[in-house]
Amino acid sequence: MTQPLRIGIFGGAFDPPHTAHRALVRAALDHLALDRLLIIPTGQAWHKARPLTAAHHRLAMARLCFSDLPQVQVDPLEIERVGPSYTIDTLRALKAKWPEAELFLLMGEDQARALDQWHDWQQIPQFATICVAEREDSMRSGSQFEPAKSLGKRFVRLPVAPMAVSATEIRARLGAHQNVDPLVFEPVARYIEHHHLYQTD
Ligand code: ATP
Repeated sequence: MTQPLRIGIFGGAFDPPHTAHRALVRAALDHLALDRLLIIPTGQAWHKARPLTAAHHRLAMARLCFSDLPQVQVDPLEIERVGPSYTIDTLRALKAKWPEAELFLLMGEDQARALDQWHDWQQIPQFATICVAEREDSMRSGSQFEPAKSLGKRFVRLPVAPMAVSATEIRARLGAHQNVDPLVFEPVARYIEHHHLYQTD
Protein backbone atom coordinates (compact mmCIF):
# COMPACT_ATOMS: atom_id res chain seq x y z
CA MET A 1 0.00 0.00 0.00
CA THR A 2 1.36 3.48 -0.83
CA GLN A 3 2.15 5.70 2.13
CA PRO A 4 0.06 8.87 2.48
CA LEU A 5 2.38 11.88 2.23
CA ARG A 6 0.16 14.71 3.44
CA ILE A 7 -2.16 13.81 6.29
CA GLY A 8 -4.76 16.11 7.86
CA ILE A 9 -5.79 15.48 11.48
CA PHE A 10 -9.06 16.84 12.78
CA GLY A 11 -9.92 16.08 16.40
CA GLY A 12 -13.01 17.03 18.35
CA ALA A 13 -15.87 15.80 20.46
CA PHE A 14 -18.11 15.54 17.37
CA ASP A 15 -21.12 15.48 19.69
CA PRO A 16 -22.68 15.66 17.13
CA PRO A 17 -20.59 16.37 13.99
CA HIS A 18 -22.12 19.21 11.96
CA THR A 19 -21.97 21.20 8.73
CA ALA A 20 -19.18 23.52 9.93
CA HIS A 21 -17.02 20.42 10.54
CA ARG A 22 -17.80 19.34 6.97
CA ALA A 23 -16.98 22.78 5.57
CA LEU A 24 -13.64 22.83 7.41
CA VAL A 25 -12.76 19.35 6.14
CA ARG A 26 -13.63 20.23 2.54
CA ALA A 27 -11.55 23.41 2.71
CA ALA A 28 -8.60 21.48 4.15
CA LEU A 29 -8.79 18.80 1.46
CA ASP A 30 -8.82 21.45 -1.29
CA HIS A 31 -6.38 23.95 0.13
CA LEU A 32 -3.78 21.60 1.62
CA ALA A 33 -3.88 18.92 -1.11
CA LEU A 34 -4.17 16.17 1.50
CA ASP A 35 -3.79 12.50 0.60
CA ARG A 36 -5.74 11.52 3.68
CA LEU A 37 -7.69 13.28 6.40
CA LEU A 38 -8.20 11.59 9.76
CA ILE A 39 -11.18 12.49 11.90
CA ILE A 40 -10.27 11.68 15.49
CA PRO A 41 -13.14 11.77 18.00
CA THR A 42 -11.97 12.60 21.51
CA GLY A 43 -11.83 9.83 24.09
CA GLN A 44 -11.65 11.65 27.43
CA ALA A 45 -12.15 15.35 26.76
CA TRP A 46 -10.00 17.02 29.45
CA HIS A 47 -11.13 20.46 28.20
CA LYS A 48 -14.94 19.95 28.20
CA ALA A 49 -16.86 20.19 31.46
CA ARG A 50 -19.91 18.15 30.45
CA PRO A 51 -19.92 14.36 29.91
CA LEU A 52 -19.84 13.44 26.24
CA THR A 53 -22.26 11.15 24.44
CA ALA A 54 -21.06 7.52 24.37
CA ALA A 55 -18.02 7.09 22.15
CA HIS A 56 -19.62 4.46 19.90
CA HIS A 57 -22.37 6.93 18.95
CA ARG A 58 -19.89 9.75 18.26
CA LEU A 59 -17.78 7.38 16.14
CA ALA A 60 -20.82 6.22 14.17
CA MET A 61 -22.02 9.79 13.59
CA ALA A 62 -18.54 10.90 12.49
CA ARG A 63 -18.40 8.03 9.99
CA LEU A 64 -21.79 9.05 8.56
CA CYS A 65 -20.90 12.74 8.49
CA PHE A 66 -17.94 12.23 6.15
CA SER A 67 -19.10 9.08 4.36
CA ASP A 68 -19.21 10.84 0.96
CA LEU A 69 -15.57 12.01 1.14
CA PRO A 70 -13.25 9.15 0.14
CA GLN A 71 -10.02 10.67 1.50
CA VAL A 72 -11.55 10.97 4.97
CA GLN A 73 -11.18 8.20 7.57
CA VAL A 74 -12.52 8.17 11.10
CA ASP A 75 -9.83 6.88 13.46
CA PRO A 76 -10.78 5.62 16.95
CA LEU A 77 -7.22 5.90 18.35
CA GLU A 78 -8.08 8.47 21.05
CA ILE A 79 -11.19 6.55 22.04
CA GLU A 80 -9.15 3.36 22.38
CA ARG A 81 -6.33 5.03 24.31
CA VAL A 82 -6.57 5.02 28.10
CA GLY A 83 -6.42 8.39 29.89
CA PRO A 84 -7.02 11.98 28.78
CA SER A 85 -6.92 12.61 25.02
CA TYR A 86 -3.88 14.80 24.52
CA THR A 87 -3.28 15.85 20.91
CA ILE A 88 0.49 15.67 21.33
CA ASP A 89 0.22 11.91 22.09
CA THR A 90 -1.89 11.46 18.96
CA LEU A 91 0.64 13.34 16.83
CA ARG A 92 3.50 11.25 18.23
CA ALA A 93 1.60 8.04 17.45
CA LEU A 94 0.79 9.14 13.88
CA LYS A 95 4.38 10.26 13.21
CA ALA A 96 5.62 6.88 14.45
CA LYS A 97 3.18 5.14 12.10
CA TRP A 98 3.97 7.35 9.06
CA PRO A 99 7.47 8.82 9.64
CA GLU A 100 7.69 10.22 6.10
CA ALA A 101 4.34 12.01 6.17
CA GLU A 102 3.74 15.73 6.63
CA LEU A 103 1.03 16.27 9.25
CA PHE A 104 -1.53 19.10 9.29
CA LEU A 105 -3.50 19.70 12.48
CA LEU A 106 -6.88 21.27 11.73
CA MET A 107 -8.89 23.32 14.21
CA GLY A 108 -11.38 26.15 14.59
CA GLU A 109 -10.33 29.54 15.88
CA ASP A 110 -11.73 28.92 19.38
CA GLN A 111 -9.35 26.00 19.83
CA ALA A 112 -6.44 27.97 18.36
CA ARG A 113 -7.02 30.70 20.95
CA ALA A 114 -6.90 28.06 23.72
CA LEU A 115 -3.86 26.28 22.30
CA ASP A 116 -1.50 27.50 25.02
CA GLN A 117 -3.57 25.53 27.55
CA TRP A 118 -3.02 22.24 25.70
CA HIS A 119 -0.70 19.64 27.18
CA ASP A 120 2.86 20.10 25.81
CA TRP A 121 1.51 22.51 23.20
CA GLN A 122 4.95 23.96 22.44
CA GLN A 123 5.95 20.61 20.95
CA ILE A 124 3.04 20.49 18.50
CA PRO A 125 4.81 22.47 15.72
CA GLN A 126 7.61 19.87 15.74
CA PHE A 127 5.04 17.38 14.49
CA ALA A 128 2.41 19.30 12.53
CA THR A 129 1.46 22.53 10.79
CA ILE A 130 -1.45 24.14 12.64
CA CYS A 131 -4.28 25.00 10.24
CA VAL A 132 -6.98 27.29 11.58
CA ALA A 133 -10.48 28.12 10.30
CA GLU A 134 -12.18 31.32 11.42
CA ARG A 135 -15.24 30.86 13.57
CA GLU A 136 -18.24 33.19 13.54
CA ASP A 137 -18.17 33.73 17.34
CA SER A 138 -14.62 35.00 17.31
CA MET A 139 -15.35 37.23 14.30
CA ARG A 140 -18.03 38.92 16.37
CA SER A 141 -15.59 39.57 19.19
CA GLY A 142 -13.75 41.80 16.71
CA SER A 143 -10.13 40.78 16.40
CA GLN A 144 -8.78 38.05 14.15
CA PHE A 145 -6.76 35.35 15.87
CA GLU A 146 -3.03 36.07 15.73
CA PRO A 147 -0.76 33.05 16.18
CA ALA A 148 2.30 33.04 18.42
CA LYS A 149 5.27 34.34 16.42
CA SER A 150 7.17 31.15 17.24
CA LEU A 151 4.79 29.17 15.00
CA GLY A 152 6.13 30.94 11.90
CA LYS A 153 5.53 28.77 8.83
CA ARG A 154 3.93 26.09 11.00
CA PHE A 155 0.68 28.11 10.96
CA VAL A 156 -1.78 28.54 8.08
CA ARG A 157 -5.28 29.94 7.82
CA LEU A 158 -7.88 27.79 6.09
CA PRO A 159 -10.01 29.64 3.55
CA VAL A 160 -13.47 28.79 4.81
CA ALA A 161 -16.37 31.20 5.29
CA PRO A 162 -17.07 31.58 9.03
CA MET A 163 -20.17 29.66 10.08
CA ALA A 164 -22.20 30.25 13.25
CA VAL A 165 -22.82 26.55 13.89
CA SER A 166 -21.98 24.72 17.09
CA ALA A 167 -22.73 21.29 18.53
CA THR A 168 -23.97 23.08 21.66
CA GLU A 169 -26.67 24.84 19.66
CA ILE A 170 -27.61 21.63 17.84
CA ARG A 171 -27.97 19.71 21.14
CA ALA A 172 -30.14 22.51 22.52
CA ARG A 173 -32.36 22.52 19.43
CA LEU A 174 -32.75 18.75 19.52
CA GLY A 175 -33.55 18.88 23.23
CA ALA A 176 -36.31 21.38 22.44
CA HIS A 177 -37.60 19.22 19.53
CA GLN A 178 -36.60 21.85 16.98
CA ASN A 179 -35.48 21.23 13.43
CA VAL A 180 -31.71 20.89 12.80
CA ASP A 181 -31.94 20.18 9.05
CA PRO A 182 -29.47 22.69 7.66
CA LEU A 183 -27.00 22.24 10.52
CA VAL A 184 -26.52 18.46 10.40
CA PHE A 185 -25.76 16.22 7.40
CA GLU A 186 -28.86 14.15 6.66
CA PRO A 187 -27.46 10.67 7.48
CA VAL A 188 -26.32 12.01 10.88
CA ALA A 189 -29.75 13.52 11.53
CA ARG A 190 -31.34 10.14 10.78
CA TYR A 191 -28.93 8.39 13.17
CA ILE A 192 -29.70 10.89 15.93
CA GLU A 193 -33.41 10.38 15.44
CA HIS A 194 -33.14 6.60 15.31
CA HIS A 195 -31.15 6.44 18.57
CA HIS A 196 -33.12 9.22 20.32
CA LEU A 197 -29.91 11.12 21.08
CA TYR A 198 -29.95 14.52 22.79
CA GLN A 199 -33.56 14.14 23.94
CA THR A 200 -34.04 15.57 27.38
CA ASP A 201 -37.61 14.28 27.91
P1 ATP B 1 -19.42 22.23 21.33
O1 ATP B 1 -20.41 23.30 20.92
O2 ATP B 1 -20.05 21.03 21.97
O3 ATP B 1 -18.28 22.80 22.16
P2 ATP B 1 -18.20 22.34 18.67
O4 ATP B 1 -19.30 22.77 17.77
O5 ATP B 1 -17.16 23.37 19.04
O6 ATP B 1 -18.78 21.65 20.00
P3 ATP B 1 -16.23 20.23 18.46
O7 ATP B 1 -16.52 18.83 18.08
O8 ATP B 1 -15.88 20.52 19.87
O9 ATP B 1 -17.54 21.10 17.99
O10 ATP B 1 -15.16 20.86 17.50
C1 ATP B 1 -14.19 20.13 16.81
C2 ATP B 1 -13.35 21.13 16.03
O11 ATP B 1 -14.19 21.81 15.07
C3 ATP B 1 -12.70 22.24 16.88
O12 ATP B 1 -11.41 22.49 16.37
C4 ATP B 1 -13.60 23.43 16.65
O13 ATP B 1 -12.92 24.66 16.79
C5 ATP B 1 -14.03 23.21 15.19
N1 ATP B 1 -15.31 23.86 14.91
C6 ATP B 1 -16.53 23.51 15.39
N2 ATP B 1 -17.48 24.34 14.92
C7 ATP B 1 -16.85 25.25 14.13
C8 ATP B 1 -17.29 26.40 13.37
N3 ATP B 1 -18.57 26.80 13.34
N4 ATP B 1 -16.36 27.07 12.66
C9 ATP B 1 -15.03 26.70 12.69
N5 ATP B 1 -14.56 25.64 13.39
C10 ATP B 1 -15.45 24.92 14.11
